[in-house]
Amino acid sequence: MQIFEHVASLQKFLDSCRKDSQKITLVPTMGGLHDGHARLIDRAKELSDVVVVSIYVNPTQFSANEDFETYPKTLAQDKAFIKSKRIDALFIPLNSEIYPEGMSSDYDVGKLGQILCGISRPSHFNGVAQVVNRLLDIVKPNYSVFGQKDYQQLLIIKSLVKSKDLDIIVESVPTIREDDGLAMSTRNKYLSEDERVNASLFYRQLVKAKKAIEAGVAIELTRQQALSSLSDLFEVEYVEVLDANNLTQIKTNTEEIIIISAIRLGETRLIDNILFRSSNV
Ligand code: AMP
Repeated sequence: MQIFEHVASLQKFLDSCRKDSQKITLVPTMGGLHDGHARLIDRAKELSDVVVVSIYVNPTQFSANEDFETYPKTLAQDKAFIKSKRIDALFIPLNSEIYPEGMSSDYDVGKLGQILCGISRPSHFNGVAQVVNRLLDIVKPNYSVFGQKDYQQLLIIKSLVKSKDLDIIVESVPTIREDDGLAMSTRNKYLSEDERVNASLFYRQLVKAKKAIEAGVAIELTRQQALSSLSDLFEVEYVEVLDANNLTQIKTNTEEIIIISAIRLGETRLIDNILFRSSNV
């Protein structure tokens, strides 16, 4: 495995791969790697000859009151983890390589970035789109892999790639969970022991809502019941039942439903979702 901190040396390596007709996949991460990230890497290995994993905690996607400074940094473990996955290149860029002209986040992701998580984190998706756009521009991969756990982010990245007409296939992988159902996340490290036990109830409530919809309970009633049950346990930011295709209200032609939610447990903000085919709506 080669480790790159500079764009020029990474691009030199990738150019030589392309000359050998090798296909390249980029897996962007913020480090604090866990088995969710491993699943992305495994998918990347299935898709192409060369896998580039980036680790970069992107300042422009955090607002002033968020956890940029305290975001878990576990570079030594991450390097060992990546090495064990036998990938080709690890890109750990300096800020000056990602943002050579300074760190503005005035990138317009449109309506999709203003709903759900975009309400409490108004500049978040602009920052995400900005860094992903820059990473895609540096690596120029054939594929890039993202997790369905960050579903709104996934749709925004798909829309970015489409609107810029980039010749890149965006792949997604399902959410990897702990044994009790909690979606794996770097931020789970913030949870106290008691909070960690309670956190498993988040996904369980989403599963319950999915079962209600599959049993024919009306969408809005299910949403309200989920909101009420989740509010007994957590501070709920939102819980919505939407068309997974575009995060709009469910229509008669909706094919896939998403129940998507963000909650707070003490100081920790958790997001999760559950995706399923529409049958009884
Ligand atoms: P992060 O390092 O948290 O920014 O995440 C990097 C990538 O890993 C994103 O595409 C996430 O959606 C994905 N990811 C994070 N957690 C999981 C998980 N539990 N299962 C699947 N993918 C995940």
